[in-house]
Amino acid sequence: MNYRHIFHAGNPADVMKHAVLALILDHLRAKPAPFCVLDTHAGIGRYDLTSEPARKTAESDDGIGRLWGRPAPHPGLAPYLDAVQALNPDGALRWYPGSPRIARAALRPQDRMVLVELHPDDARSLKSEFADDRAVSVHQSDAYTALKAHLPPKEKRGLVLIDPPFEQPDEFARMAEGLALAHRRWSTGIFALWYPIKERAAVWRFQDAVEKTGIPKVLIAELTWHPEDTHLRLNGSGLLIVNPPWKLDETLRAMLPALHDALPSTGGGASVSWLTPEAS
Ligand code: SAM
Repeated sequence: MNYRHIFHAGNPADVMKHAVLALILDHLRAKPAPFCVLDTHAGIGRYDLTSEPARKTAESDDGIGRLWGRPAPHPGLAPYLDAVQALNPDGALRWYPGSPRIARAALRPQDRMVLVELHPDDARSLKSEFADDRAVSVHQSDAYTALKAHLPPKEKRGLVLIDPPFEQPDEFARMAEGLALAHRRWSTGIFALWYPIKERAAVWRFQDAVEKTGIPKVLIAELTWHPEDTHLRLNGSGLLIVNPPWKLDETLRAMLPALHDALPSTGGGASVSWLTPEAS
């Protein structure tokens, strides 16, 4: 396990993923019934963008760095930008919220979050980030084992975020299998699966595998910032969302192009489409 998210925190892929995550959570908050968030690849929860590893790659400069201190390019970005703001109340951008901190900002007293992280050092950091927080439980475990252990949640409402590092060549296949298993256990949950857009054929194979599971109501949202003429770099960021909140597709159709225009790019764009429609 060589991947450490500190090198990538706040980059354009994180911005896209976390902005959509914050919108989904905002929707879950609209009803008083409790919800549960399961984050299967949680990382360390918050990232110091001034730290040596973060500055070494400086990836956040082309991500959150482009949005910080400026008017939001689209109102749909507000829940995300509010979560970043909350960690940096003095106006200087230092702390970047990973998915656990974005989700924690959305929880109400009746809600709960389960965090899973396999890397021993990161799991330790995560435990200390949420020490004494009774709404949060942290498990050092494999993500795909955790899907079996923690689903379905007793709340019957909520979100599973599956955000692997793509270090393993079979990660796309494992995600599709993991989703099929998780959906059998909890067919009404919202699932958000993040994937890198490098080699388009790999994305197509993943989407085909999900389509073959027969899972209905699957939305695909993608943001690319380079043309897809090489697979040797990260060209964009994708989210496959099962059971997306009502009208999320409409919001993303307006928000993602605005985000594309606000971030540096050499091409690409935004797209939102249904992989499989609602079951009839
Ligand atoms: N979701 C985080 C966020 O948005 O802030 C970032 C997660 S990062 C892309 C992927 C994380 O998964 C890394 O922290 C890595 O250590 C962890 N990881 C890798 N393999 C794992 C596995 N099999 N089970 C659980 N966590 C794993």
